Amino acid sequence: MKEIILIKTGEIALKGLNKSTFEDVLVKNTKWRLHELGKFKFHKAQSTIYCEPQSDDIDMDEACRRVAKVFGIAAFSLARVAEKDFDDIVKETLDFLGEELEFAKTFKVEAKRADKNFPMKSPEICRELGGKILEKYHHLKVDVDNPEVLVMVEVREKSAYIHGKQKPGAGGIPIGTSGKAAILISGGIDSPVAGYMMAKRGIELCGVHFVSPPYTSDRALQKVVSLMEKMGEYCGRMKLFVVPFTKIQEEIRDKCPEDLFTIIMRRFMMRISQKIARRNDCGALITGESVGQVASQTMKAIACTDIVCDLPVFRPVIGMDKREIITIAHEIDTFETSILPYEDCCTVFTPKHPRTRPKLDQVEAAEAALDLDELIREAIDGIELIEIKR
Ligand code: ATP
Ligand code: MG
Repeated sequence: MKEIILIKTGEIALKGLNKSTFEDVLVKNTKWRLHELGKFKFHKAQSTIYCEPQSDDIDMDEACRRVAKVFGIAAFSLARVAEKDFDDIVKETLDFLGEELEFAKTFKVEAKRADKNFPMKSPEICRELGGKILEKYHHLKVDVDNPEVLVMVEVREKSAYIHGKQKPGAGGIPIGTSGKAAILISGGIDSPVAGYMMAKRGIELCGVHFVSPPYTSDRALQKVVSLMEKMGEYCGRMKLFVVPFTKIQEEIRDKCPEDLFTIIMRRFMMRISQKIARRNDCGALITGESVGQVASQTMKAIACTDIVCDLPVFRPVIGMDKREIITIAHEIDTFETSILPYEDCCTVFTPKHPRTRPKLDQVEAAEAALDLDELIREAIDGIELIEIKR
C-alpha cells in the first residue's frame, strides 16, 4: 500500500512567472514544510507535482495538513498508487475509498488515461470500475452531476493513481518568488493578517517588533513569537528582530508635545524598520494599518509616517473592516493569541488626545528636540534576533 500527494499548481499563477522557476521554488518550500515528517521525493509531470514519501511510516494526513498551507498550491489530493492493471486498480480503489463509499449514497467514477498504452479507454475504466463498486456496495447509486464520492482514476506513465475529490490549496504564489519584506508586527490582530496576505503574494517575511521594557512585559514578546510561529505554518521560516524602544519613547514623552507623541513614535518605527529591512535584503515594509481605525491611521498621519521612508510600504488591510480582518485571523488561527491582553509599546504613554491631522512642519519641529541619529543607532545596536521555529 502506497500513498502519494498530487499537487496542482494552477495555471493562472504560472502565467506571469517563469513556470519552471516557480515550480522549483514551490517544491523547495513544500520539501521544507514536510522535512520534519520524513523524506519525500518530488517530480513534475503534466502540470502535476508528485510528492512521494520515501518510507512507510510517514504520517500522510499530517503531510496533507501541511501541504494545504503552502502558497502556490491551487489544489491537491492524497492518492493511492496502484499498478497499471485493472484488477489492482479495483482492489486499491475499494481499499482506499471503501469507507467513504460505504457511508455515501451516490458516487461517480472519472478516469484520465494519460498513458495511451493502457488497454482500457477512459469510459471503459469508468464503466467497469463503477460496476465493481456497485457489486460490493449495493446501496450506492451513480450520480454524474453531484456525486457524494468522486472516484478519480488517473493512469499515468509509471502507475495508476486513485483519489477522491481534490482539496483546495492555500492559493497565492510560492514564498520567495516576489522577494522579501519586513513586517512591523505587534501583538494585535491586524499585523499578523497583513503579513499572511503579503506572504500569499510570494513575499518572504522577516519580522520587526518594538518592545519597551519595563512598560511592556516578556509575555508580550512571547505573544509575538507565538503569533509568528502560527504565521510560519503559511509563511515558512522567519527571523524576528526585537528592537528596544524604551529610551526613544521616554525621550519623546519628555521632549515633544503630548499630542504628537504617537506620530513621532511611528516615524521612529518606520525609520528603524527601514534600516533593518535594507540590511536584510528587504524591498518593502508591511504594516497592519487600516484607514480610520485609530488616530495614527488617518490619511494625514499616514502621510507623515510614509515620508520618512524610501521603501514602499505595503498595507494590505488598509481598506478592510475589523470584521473582515478578524475573519482571516480566525482562518489562520492567530486570533486567539492576538486577543491575549498584554501591553504593546504603542499603548505606552499614549496621549489622551492624539492629533489626527498632524502637520508635517510641526512634527519635524518637534523632532528637532531629539537626537534622531543617536537614538536610532542605539536602538539598532540593541536589537535581539530570534529565529522563529517552524
Ligand atoms: P495591530 O492589530 O496590528 O496591532 P492596531 O490596529 O493595533 O494594529 P496600531 O497599534 O496603531 O494598530 O499599529 C499599527 C501598525 O503598526 C501595526 O499593524 C503594526 O504593523 C505596527 N506596530 C504597532 N505596534 C508595533 C510594535 N510594537 N512593533 C512593531 N510594529 C508595530
Ligand atoms: Mg496594535
